[in-house]
Amino acid sequence: MTKNEQVHAEVEVLRRRITELEAQVATSASTELQLPGLADPFATLFRASPVAVVITAIEDGRYLDVNDQFARITGYTREEVIGATSSELQIWANPDDRLRIGELFKEQVVIRDVELDFRTKAREVRTVIASLALIDFEDTPCVLTMCHDITERQQAAQERERLLAEAQAAVRLRDEFLSVASHELKTPLTALRLHIETMQRIGRKADTSEPTLQRIMSKLDISLQQINRLTELVNGLLDVTRIREGRLGLDLEPLDLGQVVQAIAEQFEEQFEQADSTVQLELAADCTICADRSRLEQIITNLLSNAVKYGRGGPINVFVFGDATVVRLSVQDHGIGIAAADQQRIFERFERAVSTQHYGGMGLGLFVVHQLVTLLGGTIAVESTPGDGSTFTVTFPRYVQSQ
Ligand code: ADP
Repeated sequence: MTKNEQVHAEVEVLRRRITELEAQVATSASTELQLPGLADPFATLFRASPVAVVITAIEDGRYLDVNDQFARITGYTREEVIGATSSELQIWANPDDRLRIGELFKEQVVIRDVELDFRTKAREVRTVIASLALIDFEDTPCVLTMCHDITERQQAAQERERLLAEAQAAVRLRDEFLSVASHELKTPLTALRLHIETMQRIGRKADTSEPTLQRIMSKLDISLQQINRLTELVNGLLDVTRIREGRLGLDLEPLDLGQVVQAIAEQFEEQFEQADSTVQLELAADCTICADRSRLEQIITNLLSNAVKYGRGGPINVFVFGDATVVRLSVQDHGIGIAAADQQRIFERFERAVSTQHYGGMGLGLFVVHQLVTLLGGTIAVESTPGDGSTFTVTFPRYVQSQ
């Protein structure tokens, strides 16, 4: 049962009890409203109820009785309230609410679940959710009000909304910053690459036996490698921006997945060697898919880079296989693996399951891979056991040439 349903159930019990009280009062000789003594279990319920209960005479607006919870919410004692009017106590924080209730009572005898603001004795505003009913005590028309204090809950909800809005604004700002930064970085990087390539060309034409020139040429090689790395990172950021803006164009053509994997794996030889990893390819023939070549290469490159990076120098197995309807690429390493709790989130932006201290990276590679695979009509899944390694499997629809 939710808190609201609980409150409604309690309100229902109290409402029934009030009807019984009405009957009792009607048979009583006294013209005054008399609630039974505390020995009566229903009176105990009235007093101890966590729902605030108020009985007000319609004629002069005086409070005929209130329970302890109402006193607790408003900060008055029961004695201070009983006999006073709501105007005397200035209890309505929004006097319009009172008029609204009056209007509603012209058409109905029970008003359920209205949100009202009360002002306490300390002049603090508290919000309650109230149900009100027209009742009669000894021919005295009264309003029975039952209310539940939701001030803290509402404040918590407002706080949550505020934090959510702040977080959304921060994410928006981050995305805008990424977009601007990646575009801004791209221009000087391209210029720098051109300058270095020009210097390399000039150097090659000069006396290459000159030791100083040899040193300069080797430094230029290293500079170009670093620029290439930086360009890759900036391109990754640009891809994220393009994906977010839905501007990632695809140039689709039928491609043999095994052949594309073979070519990329050859480019990776140096990296495999540096990481002391051996790679084994099992590539089935005729696994054709419809894809954008450079985006497909990007997917394979990312998965192989991760297998090298997180593979702890263990063997890497790459499989391409398929059936009549789908074609699959699996990249398996025997490295650090991924905890089950992280296996979904690593496909989200900036999500990483390793510390930056041990492994560099921005946590964008798998996000881009996932987005690209989805754009190409495929799916990606990971199977992994921490300490034993990971297998990333991409499944594409098989390309079948129409007759
Ligand atoms: P990055 O490598 O830059 O952190 P990715 O998006 O490529 O970003 O990967 C996200 C995270 O997924 C990594 O930080 C790492 O925790 C985990 N991960 C990816 N590939 C592997 C793998 N082959 N083995 C273990 N963990 C991996």
